[in-house]
Amino acid sequence: MAWWFGIKLWKRVFLGLVLGVIFGLVVSQTMEAGAAEALLLKTKVVGDVFIRLIRMIVVPLVFFTLVAGIYAMGDPKKLGTIGVKAFVLYILTTFFANLMGLLMGTIFQPGKGVDLGGVAPKALGEARPLGERLMAIIPENPFAALVQGDMLAVIFFALLLGVGILMASEEGAPAGRFFEAASEGVLKMTHIIMELAPFGVFGLIAYVAGTQGIATFTAIFKLTIAVYLGCALHMLIVYGGLVRFILRLPFVNYFRGILDAQMVAYSTSSSSATLPVTIRVVQENLGVQKSVAGSVLPLGATINMDGTSLYLGIVALFTAQAFGYTLEPQHYFLIALTAALVSIGTAGVPSASLFLLSIVLDVFNVTPEHTALIIGFIFPFDRLLDMMRTVVNVTGDTAVAVAVAKWEGELDEEVFRAKPVA
Ligand code: ASP
Repeated sequence: MAWWFGIKLWKRVFLGLVLGVIFGLVVSQTMEAGAAEALLLKTKVVGDVFIRLIRMIVVPLVFFTLVAGIYAMGDPKKLGTIGVKAFVLYILTTFFANLMGLLMGTIFQPGKGVDLGGVAPKALGEARPLGERLMAIIPENPFAALVQGDMLAVIFFALLLGVGILMASEEGAPAGRFFEAASEGVLKMTHIIMELAPFGVFGLIAYVAGTQGIATFTAIFKLTIAVYLGCALHMLIVYGGLVRFILRLPFVNYFRGILDAQMVAYSTSSSSATLPVTIRVVQENLGVQKSVAGSVLPLGATINMDGTSLYLGIVALFTAQAFGYTLEPQHYFLIALTAALVSIGTAGVPSASLFLLSIVLDVFNVTPEHTALIIGFIFPFDRLLDMMRTVVNVTGDTAVAVAVAKWEGELDEEVFRAKPVA
């Protein structure tokens, strides 16, 4: 067993990913459909166990690390500067993601000549009004918010509790230390659970590859290429550029350090399920201190979704191209703006944003029938696109955490610069 644990975790997870794709494809190509599906469903159980385990610790982890993170700031004023810096970066990176999405949609023209005949339309329910959603950030009962996993409400309560404990100084100190100790404990739980990651990732990916496989890729080939390429370029140029040229930190160490989180994001399609891993890698591999990792990341996982924003822009252009809507320059601007706003409101769970697509399409008055057709067309393949945009969502959070940590003097550069062990 020792040799297995001797291999770096990201390599083991990567192995699970590759073998999962191969296994899924082989099973679906060689076995009879019913038997293949049954086998893939059995393999997926390991993946489901893995997802449940990480989901299990999301709420306690966010709660404890956020309070501990605020406490570690030592001064309530620091919350303000960290918050402002993180916010500005969230918005700036989302803006670039928008540009990239519109660029890819224009270059690749993924919707041109797409045949939507024979697609079963998919109608959507009404979204909750904005005012109501904003009000719900303040929990009437914080314990109910914890129980329901209502992230923004939990974050709001934890922030205030952290500030309260700080302001209580001497008397608050034991409570602060309690939260610090508890967050260490939950983080150690992440370590235990991550040992299952190679197998969980194998099961999840085998299922996706086996049920969606190559057919998916060809059916929406251009859209997939546009989304994947846009996402990859955005990560390299914007996050890589930020790390290398603005923060002057080694690029390779950054991407190597976050690989675990990226692979979990890719296989789970959920930034909130990935959060425990994101917090762990940023602290342990990149040297971001708890005060920043604990505060910037939970918020980022909830509101900073560059991949989603990029994706919504591409799909909006896809729709216009497929149905022949003409877009004026102001439409591009409005698409970018609404895509950014929608990405903030998107939950970090699989396929969340597809169901908010209609808000973006409203910008150029797409008829409800057309919207339903587009969603019906993309939905069966969305997983493949979702996996990639979730990687960008998670990577964006880590880049912002590194930047804020560096500017706040909360980055242990020795850890960041430590030569990555192959
Ligand atoms: N699945 C994405 C995430 O969790 C959200 C989306 O559907 O765009 O980050």
